Amino acid sequence: MKELLQKFSEIETPFYWYDLNVLDKTLQALKEANRKNYHVHYALKANNNAPVLARIKDAGLGIDCVSGNEVKHALENGFEPSQVVLAGVGKTDKEIEYAIDQGIFSFNVESIEELEVINKIASSKGKKPNISFRINPAIDAGTHRKITTGSKENKFGISDEELFRSVDQIKSMESIRFIGVHYHIGSQITDIGRFKNLCVRINEIQSGLVERGIELPHLNVGGGLGIDYLDPDTKSIPDFEAYFNTFTENLQLLPDQELHFELGRSIVGQCGSLITKVLYQKESGATKFLIVDAGMTDLMRPALYDAEHMAQNLSSESSNMVTYDLVGPVCESSDIFNKGIVLPESKRGDLIAIRSAGAYGETMKNAYNLRELAKAYYSE
Ligand SMILES: *Cc1c(COP(=O)(O)O)cnc(C)c1O
Repeated sequence: MKELLQKFSEIETPFYWYDLNVLDKTLQALKEANRKNYHVHYALKANNNAPVLARIKDAGLGIDCVSGNEVKHALENGFEPSQVVLAGVGKTDKEIEYAIDQGIFSFNVESIEELEVINKIASSKGKKPNISFRINPAIDAGTHRKITTGSKENKFGISDEELFRSVDQIKSMESIRFIGVHYHIGSQITDIGRFKNLCVRINEIQSGLVERGIELPHLNVGGGLGIDYLDPDTKSIPDFEAYFNTFTENLQLLPDQELHFELGRSIVGQCGSLITKVLYQKESGATKFLIVDAGMTDLMRPALYDAEHMAQNLSSESSNMVTYDLVGPVCESSDIFNKGIVLPESKRGDLIAIRSAGAYGETMKNAYNLRELAKAYYSE
């Protein structure tokens, strides 16, 4: 990244930098690994910038949304309603109405009460939207507790027992079309074995449904494939092969059942960086602080999930390696990017790249402390 130093020094910091070549390579690798042509819906909440979405659309992916405004944004960026799925535990009536009017592919429904509301709204419109039930499979995704979504204590989805109990009630609703089941167990999952465990649970639940006379044409296994935050250069492309193979080898699909995925982070995570400038240094006891002009308002993941991003000094030529706490300017003790990171000796004015910030970086930005919102720049 050092080759971009000249270009970066002309841009006001902090800013997001997107290497669209990395995105293209990632999309290419995804396509090559997806030999069975499974449906992949990109999870819009990871990154919703127009140039990023344009490439994802050209690669033929659909879209996974978690709010009405995300559906609107996807449609405004050229995706077809038939490519859109909508999840979320708290869909408002307004969001449901909007999505029904647009004719999205499917609602991923997260409670029986929500289904009743969708059925009622659809009935009043004389429509019959597709719905899939989000099942909480009660398995451990082996990731940070704040991005685990498929354990019993998580608010997402309903249990398989509840789905089984509700089958007759669902069948009696006349303004919905029950087309599938949906799972999403968490994010930044790096142990592929966790997806195998998911397949085993899905097979069990599918058998339970078949026993009750329910054979659904669609199965959606969500997303969650992790990326390598500590090695963004040599491991810039996630192992999509191993990921898809796990499902191909372990899932028992019904004849003609279509398989859907919802990947976010693994597609856009490595193409983005947050570029920031060193403002000050100071020492407190044994700790050397490097204070930069980006903060948790530009990249919340470290404060929110204890996430670690690789950071590199693009300016320093020093061979003297120093251990720093890399911190932002926001008035919160959690505004820390890295504790004890080893960097070449750094000084005021040096540019630092905080890597792997393409997913859940810019989409979570906020103006706390009335801070300026950082802008995005692209490699082409
Ligand atoms: C966030 C989310 C995803 C994407 O997760 P990644 O870890 O970014 O792949 C997929 N499905 C649902 C329902 C989500 O909420």
